[in-house]
Amino acid sequence: MRYAILGDIHANFQALEAVASALEDEAVDRVVSVGDVVGYGADPALCIALLRDLKASVVAGNHDWAAIGRLEPEFFNPYARAAIEWTAATLTTEEKAWLAALPLVAHFDNEVSVVHATVESPERFDYIQSYYDAARSLNAMSTPVCFSGHSHVPLAFVVRDALTFTLSPVLDLKGSFRALINVGSIGQPRDENPKAAYAIYDSTSQAYTLKRVAYSVQEASARIRAVGLPAVLGERLLLGR
Ligand code: ZN
Repeated sequence: MRYAILGDIHANFQALEAVASALEDEAVDRVVSVGDVVGYGADPALCIALLRDLKASVVAGNHDWAAIGRLEPEFFNPYARAAIEWTAATLTTEEKAWLAALPLVAHFDNEVSVVHATVESPERFDYIQSYYDAARSLNAMSTPVCFSGHSHVPLAFVVRDALTFTLSPVLDLKGSFRALINVGSIGQPRDENPKAAYAIYDSTSQAYTLKRVAYSVQEASARIRAVGLPAVLGERLLLGR
């Protein structure tokens, strides 16, 4: 089974469209998304529609929950909160129902799981900031490989003889006991690379590759200004942070 894994999209339609067109050459069997479909960006409705076109399996992120009122945005910075309020006012009832129906975790064929933040308590949307945090998620996994998002920084925790982490975009997972892999972000990368990030995983060869796609960051940034969202949310896209 060949998977495409989409990192945090954040209503950046220009970035998602570039990834969708890259996927036309990837011959994947299944498209999955680690959530945070909305928030920060200017085109939440278009992103939801494109994910539905792709028949993507999507899990809920904290911004998705905040946009439907399921999570108080008390820990959001003022810009993120402004974007959530704008998003909530922009989406239709039907689009919000789609967000509300997203599960917190998805499992595929006993080989792959997808979650936004941590595996052991996905509804808390905690960040994985240490080996200790990673080990708690790895111990809670029910499949050998789990893909996640949330931090917008691609990196992988892999257990073979011991728990290690790697920033390598290419991983051979044969012989590994477990792997917890953050696939970065499509719509708001924070690893100082403005290109959209998505990943391909082939469960037969157990080969993982993180890919980057250039798109019109200027256009996404201009859209953010055009709809009246804080300009800083567009400016950070140009820097990838
Ligand atoms: Zn996010």
